[in-house]
Amino acid sequence: MKVHEYQGRELLAKAGVPVPAGAVIMSANDAASTYEKVVAEAGLGQNGLAVVKAQVHAGGRGKAGFVKLVRSAAEAKEAAEYMLSNRMVSAQTGPEGLDVNTLLIAAGVDIAKEYYLAITTDRATRRNVLIASSEGGVEIEQVAHDNPDAIVKEPVHPLMGLQPCQARRVAFKLGFNGKQVNQAVAIMLKLSALYASRDCSLAEINPLIVTPPTDEHPDGQVLAIDAKFNFDDNALFRQKDVQAMFDPSEENANELKASEFGLSYIQLDGDIGCLVNGAGLAMSTMDIIKHEGGEPANFLDVGGSATEEAVTEGFRIILADEAVKGILVNIFGGIMRCDVIAQAVVNAAKSIGFQVPLVVRLEGTNVEAGKRILEEARSSLPTMQAADDLGDAARKMVAAVQAGVA
Ligand code: GDP
Ligand code: MG
Repeated sequence: MKVHEYQGRELLAKAGVPVPAGAVIMSANDAASTYEKVVAEAGLGQNGLAVVKAQVHAGGRGKAGFVKLVRSAAEAKEAAEYMLSNRMVSAQTGPEGLDVNTLLIAAGVDIAKEYYLAITTDRATRRNVLIASSEGGVEIEQVAHDNPDAIVKEPVHPLMGLQPCQARRVAFKLGFNGKQVNQAVAIMLKLSALYASRDCSLAEINPLIVTPPTDEHPDGQVLAIDAKFNFDDNALFRQKDVQAMFDPSEENANELKASEFGLSYIQLDGDIGCLVNGAGLAMSTMDIIKHEGGEPANFLDVGGSATEEAVTEGFRIILADEAVKGILVNIFGGIMRCDVIAQAVVNAAKSIGFQVPLVVRLEGTNVEAGKRILEEARSSLPTMQAADDLGDAARKMVAAVQAGVA
């Protein structure tokens, strides 16, 4: 699960990581007053620096023009109007972009240097790993590609966590000096503890910054000015306050609906809808469709214990996708019974209707009962063909779709 930057900032602030204060708005009408309030509370005075930032589950906002520095209420309003009325297209969104509903207006800071700091799980070493670079900011992907030596990695011990000596080593490698070192070390240790206690899969601060020297802070201050957190979905049951941060408006509506019914559904670009049980079988079904020259419109694993109602919902979701020109049902009944699937096919035929070709391959538990149910309902399933095995099913499906398109 992903959360917005403003929510990540709250987590960081609660953990004791210094983050400039800010406030969230959903209407451009609130931009001017929120700018005034944020700037006043941060003690920044007349024409103080603030930053208006789109809150979407994608990065690359800076380059896309959806992070704007402003110095007046009027500029804040203008930036807010632009962001809330345009879709954000960045390197991470695809050409269709994302709708922006929420903005963060945060107190701005002067930046002497930008760093990168993150913790994630490294499957190769089976440990969490701290990743850091002195070349943080909006070009970090480029740095990782062109100059991997500029990225520092430090493994985190599964039981002991990140050790202060490790954090100091990283801080020195990144070139922090004077009072910056202890500030950076404290942030690394807090981030690491937060990562473990909240069951994160990614905790990223990009950029972590140092402010220019002032009389009060001659070595500058180390601050987090961006926050990106992902969480392990399997641990959400014990992270209720993280779960409460979920924003459904950022998710694909069909994928969300499917997950409510315990179905694993991912929308793809092709035109052959697939309804399959088991992730492995779902993937091989997609492979065979491609092998026969077709393109899958989705991945859908109904799992082993889906009810008739859930499977019917699966058909409803596939049929709601206008790109779907045919549906292939491939069930190998184990725990899932073929008669349950067959009944769901019949329900879907009655409540929605199959206008497109339907190919059904059933095998395994209660297969005879399943076939009988389909046979008895044949009159309401005019586009249905039965298939003997997976290869046969894919060939029939691709041929039917190609005949329909031609
Ligand atoms: P991202 O592009 O989606 O990662 O958004 P960020 O929050 O990282 O902002 C992008 C860039 O905007 C940062 O790397 C900074 O260079 C700049 N920026 C963001 N906030 C501030 C700020 O308060 N002051 C200044 N001077 N620059 C900022
Ligand atoms: Mg960033």
